[in-house]
Amino acid sequence: MTSDDLIAGARAVDDDLPAVYRDLHQHPELSFQEERTAGVVAGRLRALGYETTTGVGRTGVVGVLRNGDGPTALLRADMDALPMQEKTELPYASTVRGVDHEGHTVDVFHACGHDVHVTCLLGAAAELADSRGTWTGTALVVFQPAEELGRGAQAMIDDGLFARFGRPDVVLGQHVAPFPAGFLALRPGPAFAAADSVKVRMFGQGGHGSRPETTVDPVVMAAATVMRLQTVVSREVAGTDTAVVTVGALRAGTKENIIPDEAELLISTRTFDPAVRDRVLGAITRIVRAEAAASGASRDPEVMLVDGFPAVVNDVAACVRTRPGLEAVVGADRVVDPGLVTGSEDVGLLASGSDAPCVFWLLGGADPAAFAAVRSVDDMAEAVAEQPSNHSPFYAPVIEPTLAVGVAALVEAARIWLPRSS
Ligand SMILES: [Zn+2]
Ligand SMILES: [Zn+2]
Repeated sequence: MTSDDLIAGARAVDDDLPAVYRDLHQHPELSFQEERTAGVVAGRLRALGYETTTGVGRTGVVGVLRNGDGPTALLRADMDALPMQEKTELPYASTVRGVDHEGHTVDVFHACGHDVHVTCLLGAAAELADSRGTWTGTALVVFQPAEELGRGAQAMIDDGLFARFGRPDVVLGQHVAPFPAGFLALRPGPAFAAADSVKVRMFGQGGHGSRPETTVDPVVMAAATVMRLQTVVSREVAGTDTAVVTVGALRAGTKENIIPDEAELLISTRTFDPAVRDRVLGAITRIVRAEAAASGASRDPEVMLVDGFPAVVNDVAACVRTRPGLEAVVGADRVVDPGLVTGSEDVGLLASGSDAPCVFWLLGGADPAAFAAVRSVDDMAEAVAEQPSNHSPFYAPVIEPTLAVGVAALVEAARIWLPRSS
């Protein structure tokens, strides 16, 4: 069987998947609000014969297809969309608005492509059910809420995911990305960055803008802190290691002639190595405290870890075992190494929480026509950089062949772990 046959096969089995995708895309839901999506998922899983449970980790859905003795393969998709406006002008673009967890009315858009993940996993669930005469074991399909908050996987684990539905022998999943549809990307070992969000409050002593000598100015304190934080990566992280420290928000004051009482910083970090992560977070705390002391603050600053994603570490042996399945779908030369990805994902928690190996790959979703001038995989990076990326208001994966490849990749990867029945 050639890769074209596999892709054609995937398309033939699930003719209605593009319609499912467009429907999900037009009805995006924010993190932990994925109720309509969960309903669509549960309805289809039940029709396929999966034992289906909703409300796992608030809005998550679990489907179990027991098919005789044998290992369990967990296949995971995330379901949530982002609070931002879609500007793609696609005929099926989202016009939905929602209310975020702080009560603000916001536009809602599947800017990260989680609607692709849901659709592909529904297609794979159907193929595994249709072909149940050819494999043994258990397919455990997990539709996870709130990936964008980094809390959905943990919420499902805390709600008894593994105690209630069994421990998997492998965790498989994929994320759509802006390289050409028809390609897959897999990186064994550390693959996606750990991400931490840190909130800092620095306390000064306010007063009149004309009399700075009577105040402790938190604006200057915060500004000095922002500049000093730039030395964390350049002076404390080895040249052979990788880290990012970004101050994404600096808030203080209301008026030009009032020195405010306090300032707030919101900081995002990305690291791949737990030791580097500890060093970076330690340096942030140390610098914030020292700058407050240098300014003569009478009250210690607050440094709070708001939320964090651990790094996604793909199991090397499990990647070696799974890779031929991915190669069967697109061809060996179209399964590429994406390098370290500084984006973050909470799928790794499903693996570490069940002691199962993780194999998480990237699914090309960009229009192949945009890469017509690219002659080799090595030249692809430049063309990828020109594509709108995930979280862009213009992010628009092409429906085909993205869905067909995404379905086939999940099915072929799962079948490697679910032995052939004799
Ligand atoms: Zn995202
Ligand atoms: Zn995502």
